Amino acid sequence: MNSAAGTPEKKTLKLATRIIHAGAEPDPGTGAIMTPIYQTSTYVQTAPGQHKGYEYARSQNPTRKALEDALAILENGKHGLAFGSGVAATDAVIKLLSPGDEVIAANDMYGGTYRLFTKVFEKFGIKFIYVDTTNVDNVSAAITPATKLVWIETPTNPLMNITDIAAISSISKAAGAILCVDNTFASPYLQNPLDLGADIVMHSATKYLGGHSDVIQGALVMNDATLKDQLYFIQKSCGAVPGPMDCFLVLRGIKTLHVRMQRHCENGALIAHFLRNHPKVERVYWPGFEDNAGYAIAKKQMRDFGGMISFTLKDDSLEAAHKVLSSTTIFALAESLGGVESLINHPASMTHASIPREERIKNGLTDGLIRLSVGIEDAEDLITDLEQAIG
Ligand SMILES: *Cc1c(COP(=O)(O)O)cnc(C)c1O
Repeated sequence: MNSAAGTPEKKTLKLATRIIHAGAEPDPGTGAIMTPIYQTSTYVQTAPGQHKGYEYARSQNPTRKALEDALAILENGKHGLAFGSGVAATDAVIKLLSPGDEVIAANDMYGGTYRLFTKVFEKFGIKFIYVDTTNVDNVSAAITPATKLVWIETPTNPLMNITDIAAISSISKAAGAILCVDNTFASPYLQNPLDLGADIVMHSATKYLGGHSDVIQGALVMNDATLKDQLYFIQKSCGAVPGPMDCFLVLRGIKTLHVRMQRHCENGALIAHFLRNHPKVERVYWPGFEDNAGYAIAKKQMRDFGGMISFTLKDDSLEAAHKVLSSTTIFALAESLGGVESLINHPASMTHASIPREERIKNGLTDGLIRLSVGIEDAEDLITDLEQAIG
């Protein structure tokens, strides 16, 4: 093959070049520059057991393989695995565990992760201990001989709390536990947890990796070959694999990750400052403010601060929040995030409704909290939209 067209996996290449070429080998059959959508369930063998590495599409699919290679390259990892959704990827990680094992998890994280842990896996005898991971001492204090996994999210959803990945990695390693980081909010453009000592990176590829609000998908990336074999076995045995069309969409989305993220970050910074200076706004949650509790760590482990922002109004009532949520015309009222279009969301009644109210409020997720996924539209239009909605 023409080496110039091969996959440039070398870390010496800059991020933008790696993103465009990640996993992109010309199709061996035709030379097609884009990996075709291999819409097939099985592969013909020349003799029993003689095949080209592909037997049955739950186990292997060339479009999925191209995506999994791309995911690994983006996260500076050796192995990537794609799943039918972000929660399916999380589900696979928990299936590494056995009854009696303990997981230390962040107390402020995606509601669906909390629901999976408490409503599905607790009954199989896995114990989840929720702590505020922004203070690493809380994680040290929760470690027991049964701790097998530490699960963190940074920045968190929806309060944008920042956890020190390198510090948590040292604690997990000393305890012999696996550290998995949900890197969905940052995307591989802003943060690479494996470089900071994490064992597994998890993504809801539905969000920034896909980037166009047209696909549900999840991903895991790791370096350790044994861990990869175990997780591949779970992927194949439990079967939560994405279809080839969805893999194609995420592969295509990844090609513009860096340009999209640059604009998400620029627009995010402008909107965070606009909100902060607005007389009706009480508090803005965005890690890019120098007086934000997580600023120093965010600065150390992230390349920029992203386009996710939460805020409360001085009138922190449900009614006041509802008025803003139903008055925007460019920001669409919807769950999800990370697409090119701006979204506005009410965590208490939408994305985080599965967390009991008292649990939510204890962790700072009030009834009036509003979350924005700032898109890549014109920043002035977005600010004008928020201005008229806040009134
Ligand atoms: C959306 C999301 C998930 C779940 O991913 P799905 O693709 O919806 O299954 C997990 N973690 C975070 C931070 C998310 O935003």
